[in-house]
Amino acid sequence: MDSLKDGHFTFSRDTVEQDFTLLTAALDASITGIIITDNRLTDNPIIYCNSAFEKMTGYDRKEIIGHNCRLLQREDRTQKERQQLREGIDQGKPVMVEIRNYTKTGTLFWNELYVSPIKDASGKVTHFIGIQHDVTRRKQAEAELENERQLMEQRIEERTQSLKLGQEYVESIVQTVRESLIVLDNNYKVLSVNDHFLRTFKVNKEETENKLLFDLGNGQWNIPRLKELLEKVLPTNNPVVDFQVEHDFPYIGHKVMLLNAHRIEYSGEYKDRILIAIEDITDRSEIEKRKDDFLTVASHELKTPLTTIKGYVQMMNRFMPEETDEKFKDILAKTAQFIDRLSNLITELLDVSRIQTGKMAIHREMFDFDQMIAETVEGIQAASKSHQIIIKGEPIGSYNGDESHLIQVVNNLVSNAVKYSPESKIVEVHKAFVSDYIKLSVIDNGMGISAEDQQKIFERFYRAGDIQTKFPGMGVGLYICDQIIKQHGGTLWVESEKGKGSNFSFTLPTKEAPGKK
Ligand code: ADP
Repeated sequence: MDSLKDGHFTFSRDTVEQDFTLLTAALDASITGIIITDNRLTDNPIIYCNSAFEKMTGYDRKEIIGHNCRLLQREDRTQKERQQLREGIDQGKPVMVEIRNYTKTGTLFWNELYVSPIKDASGKVTHFIGIQHDVTRRKQAEAELENERQLMEQRIEERTQSLKLGQEYVESIVQTVRESLIVLDNNYKVLSVNDHFLRTFKVNKEETENKLLFDLGNGQWNIPRLKELLEKVLPTNNPVVDFQVEHDFPYIGHKVMLLNAHRIEYSGEYKDRILIAIEDITDRSEIEKRKDDFLTVASHELKTPLTTIKGYVQMMNRFMPEETDEKFKDILAKTAQFIDRLSNLITELLDVSRIQTGKMAIHREMFDFDQMIAETVEGIQAASKSHQIIIKGEPIGSYNGDESHLIQVVNNLVSNAVKYSPESKIVEVHKAFVSDYIKLSVIDNGMGISAEDQQKIFERFYRAGDIQTKFPGMGVGLYICDQIIKQHGGTLWVESEKGKGSNFSFTLPTKEAPGKK
C-alpha cells in the first residue's frame, strides 16, 4: 500500500503480488474450507481451494481445480439441498445448506456450505465463493439425539401401554371380585364403585358416584361409629376391620353387611383415598344363627335327660344295700364321675349359647376370693396327681363378684395348665393387687402357644392345631372365661411362647364401675 489518493488506496505491482501471496497464505491458514468457482467458464468450475478444503475432502488442489462442485456429492444426487443450491446460483443469491458430501476415499461428511456470489460492475455473477465447515460430528450428535428421542418416545409409548394394560388388569380384577367395592376421596365422596356394588345394591352409577357415602340409599352407612372409624383411616392408616352393618336397605331389604376399609395410595398419582370392601354376609350369619339355635336347643335337650340319669344314680347310691360288692360300688362311682364330666360339657355348651344370645348374666355377691382359689385348686389337685399346683402371692380378701362363674374361670385356666403341660410338674397360681385391680395369673411350663394361635384361642371352638387329637376338649373354655371376665369389667390375656409354657392372667376391678352391680 503506497499512498492515499482521492480517498482510494493505490498499489504498486510489487505490492499487489506481495499482498496476493499474503492473502493466499491467510486463506490457507484458515480452518474453514474455502473454494472459488468461476461462473463465466462452462460448468462453473472450481478455480481455487485452500488447504482446509483439501484436508476436509482428501482431494489435492490439482485434483479438484477445473471440476464442478457436484464432484463432492458423488452418486448421492437426490438431496433436496442440491435443488436449493441450484436455485441460489441461478438467481445469483447467497445460499446456506447442510449437504452430504464425500471425501476422496468415499467417506461421508456433512458440509455446512455457504455459497456467496461475486458480481462485476454490471451486476453479472462472475464467481462464487464457497465456505464450508465439516459438521459431521454435530450431525451425528443430532442424529443420536434424535435416535434417543425416538427411543424415549417408544419407551414412553410402551410404558403407557403397559400402564394401560396394568390399569385394565386391575380394573378387571376390581370388576370380577365378589365383593362390593367403593373408592372414597378424603371427604367421603364416592369416586367410583364396581359392578358388583351396583348389582348387590340394585343401584346405578348416577345415584352413587359423586355422592357422599353417608347420603347413599336411605342413609344405611350414616352410622356415627362407622364415621368415627373412617375418620381415622387416612390420618392413622388404621383400617376398619369387619364392621358389621345390619340394615333395611332400599330395593334389597334386610341384609347383614361386613365392611372393611383401607387407605389406598398410588404414589405420584393420588393419595388420601379410602377403599371400602363390602361383603354380604346375610346368608352366612343366618347359618351361624341356625347353628347357635341348634346349640341352644341341643344342649337344653341333652341337659334334661342327663339330670334325670344323675338323679337315678344318686338314688342307686342311696338305696345301695350294705352287702353290695366293691366292684359294683366302684362302677357306680365311675358312672357318677362320667355323668359329671358330661354334665360339665353340656353346661359349657349352654354357656356358649347364653353368651351368643346375650343371656349370660352375672350375679355379684361378696365372697372370700382366697378361699375360692384354694378350694378350686384343691379340687383339681385331688384329680391330678402328676402335678403340684402352688398358690403364691398376696391374700386378696373378699370380693364382690359372681363366685360360681369365677370358679369356672379359675377351674378352666388351672385345668388347662395341667392338661397342656404333661411333661412338667409345677403349675403356679399367683394372686396380686395391681392398682385398682386384682390380678390372677396361672403359669405353666408346658407346650406353650404360638403367637398366631394366641390371637384365636379366645374364639369359640378354636383349638390350637397340633393338640386336637391328643387332648380332650371342645375349645370353648377360654371363650367363656373371656366373656365372664369381661362382664366383671376385667381383661383376660395370655403370654406364651411355643415350647416354653404359658401365663394366663386376668384382672378384676376392685372399684366397681358406676352403675354396675
Ligand atoms: P379346650 O381346652 O377344651 O380345647 P379352651 O378354650 O380352654 O378349650 O382352650 C383353647 C385352646 O387353647 C386349647 O385347645 C389349646 O390349644 C390352647 N390352650 C389353652 N390353655 C393352654 C395352655 N395352658 N397351654 C397350651 N395351650 C393352651
